[in-house]
Amino acid sequence: MAKLIIVSNRLPVKLQEKEGELSYKTSEGGLATGLGSIYKQKDNLWIGWPGMVVNEPEKQDKITEDLRPENMHPVFLTETEIKEFYEGFSNETLWPTFHYFSQYAIYEQQLWETYVKVNEKYCEEVVKQAGPEDTIWVHDYQLLLLPSMLRERLPDSTIGFFQHIPFPSYEVFRLLPWRKSLLEGMLGADLVGFHTYDDMRHFLSSVNRIVGYGSMHGWINTPSRSLLVDSFPMGIDYEKYAGTAASEEVKKRERIYRSNLNAQKIILSIDRLDYSKGIAQRLKAFELFLEKYPEFHEQVTLLMLVVPSRDAVEKYKELKEEVDELVGRINGKYSHINWNPIQYFYRSYPLETLSAFYRMADVALVTPMRDGMNLVCKEYVASKLDQKGVLILSEMAGASKELSDALLINPNDINQIVESLYTALTMPEEMQQAQMQNMQESLQRYNIHHWVSMFMDRLSYVKIKQMSLA
Ligand code: UDP
Repeated sequence: MAKLIIVSNRLPVKLQEKEGELSYKTSEGGLATGLGSIYKQKDNLWIGWPGMVVNEPEKQDKITEDLRPENMHPVFLTETEIKEFYEGFSNETLWPTFHYFSQYAIYEQQLWETYVKVNEKYCEEVVKQAGPEDTIWVHDYQLLLLPSMLRERLPDSTIGFFQHIPFPSYEVFRLLPWRKSLLEGMLGADLVGFHTYDDMRHFLSSVNRIVGYGSMHGWINTPSRSLLVDSFPMGIDYEKYAGTAASEEVKKRERIYRSNLNAQKIILSIDRLDYSKGIAQRLKAFELFLEKYPEFHEQVTLLMLVVPSRDAVEKYKELKEEVDELVGRINGKYSHINWNPIQYFYRSYPLETLSAFYRMADVALVTPMRDGMNLVCKEYVASKLDQKGVLILSEMAGASKELSDALLINPNDINQIVESLYTALTMPEEMQQAQMQNMQESLQRYNIHHWVSMFMDRLSYVKIKQMSLA
């Protein structure tokens, strides 16, 4: 019986050890929820790193055994592999390049070699678990070489690949010294998926110019086989966010937070600490807004959550300092004894707290410089049960292609952000509701389950089509 194997850098579980005791915390990320309904079925399997370095073979065996009933299989990475493959090549070479921050990218042969080695390591683990007829779905930029490695070892298997971050235009992608190998790695898949049509277009153009394969309606014909490239905008678990926002616990939290903030208008911003998220630009825009519209002093608070991320990487440490400094400067300039324009939290929060924040925010300010999709803006919309609230969204987020009812901005245009804030804070309720209604209908329909089934259906279609072409 053929099964489905999902492969991603991380397993949907976080392994921890306290006083010699192992514990497993399941992750609630979008991908984990979306794929949860499939990988737990029958013999299906999720393969990835369990989130902790484990060197002792006996402990590795124990973890492998513990995860087996959960349909998960661990790939163990060493400290050096984490440094060079994950923090290094994935997050300091590919991440900045793919988000159009090439000036931050480092090009080091050693990091590349570890990236190849670790992709091979994942390949070994998949091959040990996979039968020749199985379907394998590989996820994201840490595993770009895996589809071709698998194709070589399991020529008849069905392989899908989905990239969750943007694919840059050829002029940016070509800067990578290993550009050809990266593309050839991806071309081992039967179906290559991106969030947006633009990512797909950029990928096809790079394949054409760097590898020399043309395409027709997304089909690439290589000398040995045909594969399809297509876009699948990822949705959220809409019912989960709407349901959480309706719970008594969340309503109670909202009342407490609101009363602490003196019932002012609230602008919400939530991101991981990352230069692609435009956090500093957003703060500068808010500062300019306070300067230009003094009538909003003491009337509005920017509630800004920044989730710690990749703090071993130098660029992220620098960004943390910049954000701290900006918040300090703006609060220092405008604060009163009973009002801080910015409430800043550098930590992560559980779903119920996020949901209360989404509920109470009059405006969500989502202004990434570049984002593959951006789920925060979708979660905000799903949580707005009374449909009162306005979304300000960067054109550079994949989500902007679907959420055209939001106030769309160019994150480099600070004046435009300032005016959008004014428009959002003074927008009549009927208009807010009309915009929310449209966005909610679309997100409810194109939810995470829809995304998974679209991808899987298309993958089966490709296999059938390949047979008719052969
Ligand atoms: N998130 C969370 N806790 C927090 C802040 C955010 O669990 O304190 C979640 C949020 O609900 C969303 C995800 O982190 O699902 C962020 O996804 P997004 O696509 O917006 O950005 P990414 O971090 O993947 O670049």
